[in-house]
Amino acid sequence: MTFDIADRVDAVPPSGIRRFFELAEEMDDIISLGVGEPDFSAPWAARDAAIASLEQGKTSYTANRGRRDLREKISDHVDDRYDLDYAAEDEILVTAGASEGIDLAYRALVDPDDTVAVVQPCYVSYVPGVIFTGGNVLSVETRREDEFKLTREVLESSGAADADVLVLCYPNNPTGATMTGEELRPVADFAREHDMTVFSDEIYADLTYEHEHTSIATLPGMRERTVVFNGFSKAYAMTGMRLGYAMAPPEATAAMNRIHQYTMLSAPTTAQYAAIEALESCDDVVADMKAQYDRRRKFVLSRFADMGIDCFRASGAFYAFPECPWDDASEFAEALLHEEGVAVVPGTAFGEGGEGQLRVSYATGLDELKEAMARIERFVV
Ligand code: PMP
Repeated sequence: MTFDIADRVDAVPPSGIRRFFELAEEMDDIISLGVGEPDFSAPWAARDAAIASLEQGKTSYTANRGRRDLREKISDHVDDRYDLDYAAEDEILVTAGASEGIDLAYRALVDPDDTVAVVQPCYVSYVPGVIFTGGNVLSVETRREDEFKLTREVLESSGAADADVLVLCYPNNPTGATMTGEELRPVADFAREHDMTVFSDEIYADLTYEHEHTSIATLPGMRERTVVFNGFSKAYAMTGMRLGYAMAPPEATAAMNRIHQYTMLSAPTTAQYAAIEALESCDDVVADMKAQYDRRRKFVLSRFADMGIDCFRASGAFYAFPECPWDDASEFAEALLHEEGVAVVPGTAFGEGGEGQLRVSYATGLDELKEAMARIERFVV
């Protein structure tokens, strides 16, 4: 017997990043600048809280929406940091990573005939998520000359005015671009004028190096049409704990929770205890990791400049997105891996608009990063 795989699954290609991981795993002496996760471990206080919760036998499900004390901490945290005002009671849903939140939003708020405008290049899950819902993907390509910021002009020329949902992510994976409140304003105006729902992935909100993060949901008339996603994977280096949260007005989180309660029941309990502690006492550890990312960012940007490789000034997350010195970035990445043992990811793995670019993650220790940049220099110069 062979399984009859559902058409919507068949329609989704495997992730372009995985191929490079698999190649890299087979080789020795590889320095990977390919991964999208911190090289740090979760802060000790968060780990200790997780361990203590296990010792105390706290191994049951939690409320579907997540522990109330965690939601209250999240509500205070996003208010303090980003001026976001969401009620713990019915506007915050704790999820298994931001990934689950994004998936729930698609499934709860996108109908099969809807058009979802996805700002690209982008994180690998956004386009498959639309395909799984049966909706139509409209690609909105940001441009190198705009430093991969989303502009009104690009929204207009890509036909986004007719889309039902706009998916964006700043600070951005893969480009490292960020947008200020001023720069987001025309995007917000456009979404309001065309009555669009906005899914705003703000998982890298704590990792901005040149200006404070502004959430699009804080701009006039946006709160009522926006779902914001965030989580503990990036700033708190807790990827494996699988903990995130979605924030939106009550009717949206209620719809998402209706799916969540049947499919997930509740986000991982141990991770929820770790997250409470992370918000309670780990600001210093987060600030220290951020300072280290910033040092690495400046180093990587200056090394690309030394090599004559054009790389715009990425200002958030932990990625640089230089122009590839070769026409074909996939060929370049493969040759660099084989000849110098450095893994980077071709921009095409992140959808439209990534052609001719490379994603270089600096979530790697400075010594390794120095060696990797020396190898890249040897390869290109
Ligand atoms: N959004 C973006 C932009 C990401 O880069 C990632 C992780 N690489 C995620 C979401 C998924 O995060 P989580 O671990 O919280 O599911």
